[in-house]
Amino acid sequence: MGRTTIPIKMTGIKIHVFHTGEVCVAPDLPFGGDECNIIKASGLFTKREDRLWLPVSAYLIEHPEHGRILVDTGWERAMSPNGEYDRKAQIESLGSPILYKVNQGQIPLGMTIDEQLAKMGIMPSDIDLILLSHLDCDHANGLSGVKDAKRIIVSEEELEYAKKHHTRYHSRWWDCVDLKTHGWNGTEGPAGKSYDVFGDGSIVQVNIPGHCPGLCATRISDGNGKFVLLFSDGGYAKKSWEEMITSGISDDKDLQKKSLQWIHDQSLSPDCVESLANHDPDIEPHIIDL
Ligand SMILES: [Zn+2]
Repeated sequence: MGRTTIPIKMTGIKIHVFHTGEVCVAPDLPFGGDECNIIKASGLFTKREDRLWLPVSAYLIEHPEHGRILVDTGWERAMSPNGEYDRKAQIESLGSPILYKVNQGQIPLGMTIDEQLAKMGIMPSDIDLILLSHLDCDHANGLSGVKDAKRIIVSEEELEYAKKHHTRYHSRWWDCVDLKTHGWNGTEGPAGKSYDVFGDGSIVQVNIPGHCPGLCATRISDGNGKFVLLFSDGGYAKKSWEEMITSGISDDKDLQKKSLQWIHDQSLSPDCVESLANHDPDIEPHIIDL
């Protein structure tokens, strides 16, 4: 009797998890919890040695049918021209001294998203789509390095919100690209708003409001029920959903908690292959074969 082998269906989806430098914040920004206020989260009065350095992630999905999709862009090279901490360059790149006070960044040479893609032989014009989870500086500031991507999208809610909140956002991060918006074509997620990017369920932007109204998680599915969840700043680490710790930067605390509960439930699903926060200090760069 020959041994029976169970065929494993490989879909050939690859997800590259990159770290594109680091962001330096007050501990209350990622893990402030429900009682945190904006002053504590901003870290304006936090001592330098008490601050945390967290990774800034970006992701490349290599999809056999839909091509190369980048999720978020991290920092641009101009934040750290020589690969070292550069206060003046950061203020210029962020467009504001206040934002510099809230979060500082550093990117070793070769580590911006465009530099890492170039090492893989991928030019910005080879990127079919960039999905932005939201427009905060550590997600959208790197757009300048990949502006030749074929299509760049963010949720309508996020762009509207960003245009109205000039302390938090600076349009110079996305004015250099042809940024388009997407609405919702589905009702998934904690807010009942989702956008099925290709109409086949393979990549879905799920609205997880709270940190900002238009924030999206990206769910990548293999077609056989398994999925990877990139939940951006819906929480800052695995412990955020395990212990239900909301972050200190919040537009709506109740929505933030509802979104975190949804991330919690998704992450515990037996079909969830990996569930990743953008700034989790325990996550190393790696490749997921889905
Ligand atoms: Zn962030």
